[in-house]
Parts: sequence; C-alpha cells; structure tokens
Amino acid sequence: MSSVFDDLVGQEHIIDILKGAVAASRTGSHSQEMTHAWVFTGPPGSGRSLAAVAFAQALICPNQGCGTCNECESAATGGHPDVDVIRTEGLSIKVEEIRELLTRVAWAPSMGGWRVVVMEDADRLTESAANALLKAIEEPGTRTVWLLCAPTLHDVLPTIRSRCRHLQLRTPSIESVTEVLIKRDKISPTMADFAARVSQGHIGRARYLATNESVRSNRKVIMQLPLQLGSLAAAFQAAQTLIDIATDEAITSSESRDEKEIEKLQEAYGKGATGRGVATGAAKAVKELEKAQKSRATRMIRDSIDGALLDIATFYRDVMMVQSELDSMINIEMREQIEGYAASTASHSTAHKIIAIIEARKNLVNNSAPLVICESLMCRLAK
Ligand SMILES: [Zn+2]
Repeated sequence: MSSVFDDLVGQEHIIDILKGAVAASRTGSHSQEMTHAWVFTGPPGSGRSLAAVAFAQALICPNQGCGTCNECESAATGGHPDVDVIRTEGLSIKVEEIRELLTRVAWAPSMGGWRVVVMEDADRLTESAANALLKAIEEPGTRTVWLLCAPTLHDVLPTIRSRCRHLQLRTPSIESVTEVLIKRDKISPTMADFAARVSQGHIGRARYLATNESVRSNRKVIMQLPLQLGSLAAAFQAAQTLIDIATDEAITSSESRDEKEIEKLQEAYGKGATGRGVATGAAKAVKELEKAQKSRATRMIRDSIDGALLDIATFYRDVMMVQSELDSMINIEMREQIEGYAASTASHSTAHKIIAIIEARKNLVNNSAPLVICESLMCRLAK
C-alpha cells in the first residue's frame, strides 16, 4: 500500500519513528512515541518540510497516511481545517503572525483528532515571536501538534528546542535522488544523473534543474565565471552577471504568482464593487499583499544568489579534488577546464577561495547588499 512516507528519499531512519508516533497517536493520549512538539532539521533540500507535512497527513488520515484520501490530499494542499502549514515569504516571522496563528489554532480540532501546525522556517522566528510560540508549546493537554523545521538545532531557540523531540534528516544519496527523478518524475536517466549529481542531493533543486532548460543554461553561465576572473574589471563584471541571472530566475518564478494573488484578492473583495468601505478595504489589502510580495521577492533573489554561490563552490571543490589527486568530480562535464585550472593554481589558494564563498553566503543571510557581497567575493576568487 502506498504511503505519504514513500516520498521521503533516503530518510528510512526517521520514517520508523514517525510511523510509531502515528500508531501511538491513535490511542488519543500523549505517550513516549507521540509527543506534541517536534523539530525537523536537515540541510537544505533534504526535505524537512516534506517530512513534516507527511507526518501531519498521517496524523489526521484515517489510514495513517495513505496519501490518497480526502484528509491526506487537503492536508497537503492547505485545505484541511486542522492542518496549518506556515511558509514564510519574508525574511522573518514576526510576533503578530504568531499571535494571529495562536488564536486560530486555539480551537479544538474540527475532526476530533489532532490539530497540526507545520512551521517551515522556525529559524526565521524573531525573538519575540519565538517567545510567544514557546508559551503555546508549553501549554499542556492541548490537541495541537507543533512540527517545526530548521536547518540545524542551533537555529531554534534553546527554550523551544528543549521541549521538542528532534529528528535529523540526512542529505539523500545522489543515487537515491537519481532514482526518484527517473521513477517518479519520468526524467531520462542521463538527465536525472546530471541533475542529481550537480545538485548534491538537493532533490528540489535537482528536479527544477532537470525539468527546466533555462535554469540549466543559466547554471552553465554561472559555472564559467571562475574561469573568467582574469582582471579586477572582469571580477566586477562576473559579480554583475551572477546578480542579473539570480534576479532574473527569482523574478520569472514569482511574477505570475504575484499577479494571480492580487487578482484572487480583488475577486474576494468583489472586483468593481462600489461601496466605499469595500473599496478602501480592498485597496488596503492589496497594498499589504504587495508589501508581502516585495519581501518575498527579496528573499527569493537571495536564495537564488545563494544557489549560484553553491554551484560555484562545486567548481572549486572539484579543483581541490584534482589537486589532491582524488578521483571524485561533481562537474564531469567540465573535466578539462577543471583540470587545467587545478594545474595552474596552488591548492592552498583553492582552500581560501572555498572559505571566501562560505563567508559570502553567511554575509548574504545577514542582509548585506548582495551586489557588494558578490563583488568582494569575485575579487577574492580572482586572486
Ligand atoms: Zn489518507
């Protein structure tokens, strides 16, 4: 029989725990297996929110997570009254949002089982938001289950994480990602192998790459940048190219969504309605939505830049492998160029370049200006 847990690639070690919790939850009380607060951690792309949503489905499904019934489907698509999936579009989750959420989930579950809140970016909670959440998690005897997702345990406030059961996801192997792309997404074996390999186990990125021609050609351009850093002027040009591509990619994927959202909102208010109260209400709501969309765009551009930096890091990683005489290459399509670069540079400088990329990624999170970060990085990579 199929199950919602089938989609969790390479996470067998946590699937057993989750299934045990689901079985125990049927007794209706808290137990050692079933607790009301969980933290899912794992590197980007390991599927931590996928795991949390699967768990939410299994908790409310009459068949413990069949993946095909109404409960399962509506939980996954956001239409289930007892399941809230909180996706942050902005850079942080504010206390107002948590307060609003808490009033919403204060009601008993409508179907009599559990009420589940999946918070995809618990690392983006502001301190006051985290404290408001803590109070709710501490409250005993409620029917609400909290599933928090974060890159690492350190990204969650200590007071919160001490009250949660922790599940650590693994980066799935390249083989298992390849297999999923072939079997589930019907992607050709050659393409699946390429996408899984260069995405390094990041399944979402692998699928995006495998199904999107323009994303693949953008990646090609990005991967050539390390080879074009002959002068300072070229380094600045490379930074601009990276920003342009990342921005372009982020905008293409968000523009159509933005328009649809505004249309939907206007419909909700009755497009063309003339009542004065309605008109001002609609205008205010549209303004708020536009603000949220802008904040989301900022985040998407940052994520996209970060993805490009990760791609570039695989270039230097390959160079280092060649310099260390290890036979392990991610970008085998670039073998000749990588070997040439490795022969013309020293391995200690490669290490410095990889460190420079790690630092640039950290600075990107800290909200510095992306172009400035990329310019300074490219100058360091040019040396
Ligand atoms: Zn089901």
